Amino acid sequence: MRALTVAPGIANSARLDDVLEPPTSDGAVLVKTLALGVCGTDREIVSGAYGWAPPGEERLVIGHESLGRVREAPAGCGVAAGDLVVGIVRRPDPVPCPSCAVGEWDMCRNGRYTERGIKERNGYGSDFFRIEPDFLVKLDPALGINGVLVEPTSVVAKAWDHTERIGGRARAWQPNTLLVTGAGPIGLLAALLGAQRGLDVHVLDHNDRGPKRKIVRELGATFHLGEIPDLGSFKPDILMECTGAAPVVRDAIGRTASAGIVCLLGVSAPGRALTLDIGDVNRTIVLGNDTVFGSVNANREHYEDAVAALQRADQSWLDSLITRHVGVERWTHSLVQQPGDIKVIVDFS
Ligand SMILES: [Zn+2]
Repeated sequence: MRALTVAPGIANSARLDDVLEPPTSDGAVLVKTLALGVCGTDREIVSGAYGWAPPGEERLVIGHESLGRVREAPAGCGVAAGDLVVGIVRRPDPVPCPSCAVGEWDMCRNGRYTERGIKERNGYGSDFFRIEPDFLVKLDPALGINGVLVEPTSVVAKAWDHTERIGGRARAWQPNTLLVTGAGPIGLLAALLGAQRGLDVHVLDHNDRGPKRKIVRELGATFHLGEIPDLGSFKPDILMECTGAAPVVRDAIGRTASAGIVCLLGVSAPGRALTLDIGDVNRTIVLGNDTVFGSVNANREHYEDAVAALQRADQSWLDSLITRHVGVERWTHSLVQQPGDIKVIVDFS
């Protein structure tokens, strides 16, 4: 079968390979891949900066934003042939740590977790994949191709879960405003979940190429072009930072209203030193009871929250997030970002 592979640690080693059918050791359920979302993590792996092949192998099948249809499944396992499904990315570490032991592998404490398509396990970027039933999430068939957005939405669903748990430290906490920095897929999905919570949603980006301004407006949210200081006196109750760009992160910290929450979702590249008045930041955060926290990955509950959120959403709005389909034979073209791209998918259908 065809598989999208890379040699982790080696830049530009991405290619289309012919590989053996997936081993039964990957799980009892056989899934036919329909589509695969491509994200910044995939680009980082292809650049050679991230990713690990399975033990004893040189190449990794890439792909963690899956969408497929069950081909074969054991009776009574929770899914059946024909079901539309998404695979969960992370697997608990083998120790396991206290978090992995209770199914919160997204909060793994020892870092020995593995991840499909990223860390020591082959991913979902092949014509077929096998998977354990416990790591499959079943979708409403009405979601169709938009099911490929479940994995990135699960990351956002976790961010919202933790934001609301932090907010719950004050009994009367009731947020009204949300600022999202970065109108990429994660930012727009964070904005969707904010709009579904009835918040006044604002999305900031440093450019308005492509359809992002229109997409934000169609959500009933406000699009801002520029940088955080351009927002003047506006101080949101919740700020979700989705760019990972160092200057934006600097401007985000301490920028909320009192008892505000800044959730950092973007992964920065280290090496860029910026000036920050730590005394002023500390004063703002302490006197405002503010919180700044990071969030990554998702556990099963977050995937289920993600499915529910996507099923509630306007499907044509979700369609507009998928701006480019690339065929399997040309899959490496999906790695090169084009102006106006939001979510690019590799189409296996
Ligand atoms: Zn763990």
